[in-house]
Parts: sequence; C-alpha cells; structure tokens
Amino acid sequence: MSSPDTGALEEEAVLRALRSGWIAPLGPEVDAFEREVAERVGARFAVALSSGTAGLHLGLLALGVGPGDVVVTSTMTFAATANAIVYTGARPHFVDADPTTGNIDVQLLGETLAQLQADGESVRAVLPVDLLGKAVDYAAIEQLAAEFGVPVLADAAESFGARFHGRPVGSFGRASVFSFNGNKIMTTSGGGMLVTDDAAVADRVRHLATQARLPVSHYEHADIGFNYRLSNILAALGRAQLARFDDMLARRREWRRRYRAFFAEVDGVGIFGGDDDDDDNAWLTAIIVDEGAGWSPAELIAGLAESNIESRPLWKPMHLQPVFASYGATVGGAAERQFRRGVTLPSGSALSEEQFTRVETALRSFLESRA
Ligand SMILES: *Cc1c(COP(=O)(O)O)cnc(C)c1O
Repeated sequence: MSSPDTGALEEEAVLRALRSGWIAPLGPEVDAFEREVAERVGARFAVALSSGTAGLHLGLLALGVGPGDVVVTSTMTFAATANAIVYTGARPHFVDADPTTGNIDVQLLGETLAQLQADGESVRAVLPVDLLGKAVDYAAIEQLAAEFGVPVLADAAESFGARFHGRPVGSFGRASVFSFNGNKIMTTSGGGMLVTDDAAVADRVRHLATQARLPVSHYEHADIGFNYRLSNILAALGRAQLARFDDMLARRREWRRRYRAFFAEVDGVGIFGGDDDDDDNAWLTAIIVDEGAGWSPAELIAGLAESNIESRPLWKPMHLQPVFASYGATVGGAAERQFRRGVTLPSGSALSEEQFTRVETALRSFLESRA
C-alpha cells in the first residue's frame, strides 16, 4: 500500500554519512535534517527522534503529562497514539471521528472537554491526529484548547507535507510529531521528529531523548531519560528523501486523482476524507463502501489479494481495542462505520505507472464480477 521509495540519491546519502565516520546517534546529518524539516514546516525548533511514537511520548512528558492526568485523543488512529499516552501514566479518553473526514469530531471534542472538566478530571493535553494525511480542523481545535486552557500536541505522523488552509502541518498547536517509518510518506527506515516554536519544549525533549544526561563530563542525571535520538546515518537518508519530497508528494496526489476519477463512475463508493484534496498529502487513499454497493469491503480486499494486491480496512478504532477498552470514550458510531466500510488502497509513490494500471484493472474486473 505504501512501500518505501528510495533510490540512488538515498544510497549516496547513506554512504556519505557512513564514510564520514559519524556512525553513532547524532552528528552533522542530524543537525542539518532538523534545520531542513523545521524550515519546511515553518517551526522554530525540530528534534529528530528514533520514531514518531518516541516523539509523542516525549512531547507529552514535556507538556507535563503524567499519572492521574487525562489526554483527549481521537479513537480513529493507530495504536501508537494511545500507547504514548499510557507510557506517561496518563489515561487516554477517546473521541469519535467526524463522519466525513475521519478526524476527531470537534463538536464532540468540545462536549468531552466540558464534561471531563465538570467531572473534575485533570485534562493535560489534547492529541488530535491528521488521519491518512488530512489535517484536522486546527482552527477549531486551537480555539477549544484556548477556551479550556489545555495545550495541543498534534499527531502529524501521517501528514508531513499536508496543510491546513494553506499553512503547513507542524506549525499548529504547542508541538507536532512526524513519523518517518518505512510506510510513511517519506522515511528514514525508522524515525520521527518533534517540531515546535516553544524553546522549553524542544530543550526538554532533546534532554529526555539523550538519556537525560546533564552537560557535565561525569554522567550526571536528574531525570529518568530515554535513548530516543535518531542516528546520523538515518538522518542522511531522511535528507535525501526531503530533497525528493515534492516529487513523491505529487505522485501520491496523482494516484488520489486517478482513484477519484475511477470511483466517480462507481455507485455506492466515495473517496474517504471528503471532496477536497488540495491540502492533503494523500499519504493513503481509502474508499468508503456504502451498504447498498452490492459487495462488501472484505470481498474487495479478498478480490485484490487474488491479484497479489495489498489493501486493508481502515484503522480499528481504539475504543474497540481489547487493550484500551477500559478507558473513557465519547463515541456515536462514526469511527465504527468507517472501520466496517473503509478500504485503504495502494497509494505509494514507489508504485510505477504499470503497477498502478494493474490495480485499476484488478478493481475493474472485481466490479464487473459483481455487476
Ligand atoms: C505511524 C504512526 C505513529 C507512530 O509512528 P512510528 O514512527 O511508527 O513510531 C503514530 N501515530 C500515527 C497516527 C501513525 O500513523
């Protein structure tokens, strides 16, 4: 669905880093990668980390989240979002998805914050998620956050390169976290980055990520730290990806455009996320199959698998996961329907024209077999 897109430039970059002798975590490639990402998204500071999950974990710690606190997040996400909350000792509270975009329902978010505050809960952060590369309604979320006096940490793991009303994701909230895992829009094989305009948050995250080592020669520690920094070799890979990023983004958008044109002719199927792609990074394209389509998402997934083409359901909501079932949730049924009716399709920038045409052909023959 989204395999890594790497070639000669990446090979050269990794060799350059290896031959430079900076093999350990940190080094000049990390510094340059941080500067380039910060500049691209319009943030003052960036801290390169070993994963997006690490970024969420340390971002929450830097906001003071800990045992006894509640962090409000979207139920429609990947488990890493909720795991990071639990790592801090806080409890997640899950909010349902907007029926169109799949992002956190901002109306329900407002109601949830009011209810939790009325119940005397210590809500320490709001953690929205830009699902599949579509930015959440940052205007509404920042307004609610200000109203309730709660900071926003954005899970932008899937949305590097996306925008909200023309402004880059990564420039909203107190801090944002990107993932550069192998399946994301660009990759360092494994890696992530926290971006922020808040110097104190950046310093705290950098400190905690390097074993909370104080700047003295004898290894002095006043906090429990983590080994969460990005390797210099992987940062070089990230810089090569960044140099090719606009082309990779354009390719994902081209697949989105092609899927839109294809499914415009198919009754009972809509492109997930709504009609407007302008600001999305189109990381993954998914469809929603209406109950009246005459075939089920599972049948389509099985049909494509016969041609050795990968597709999957959308994320299973967190409030339905056995491991998170005991936490609070404010849900109606929107995320559950998206999980039941959604199918995520091959969307990677590494797909060749020939491969994409093969996907279209397989889709067409599946639909003909059901007609
Ligand atoms: C991928 C992902 C993460 C985790 O990022 P890693 O770099 O894999 O740790 C977190 N949240 C969401 C929504 C993701 O898709």
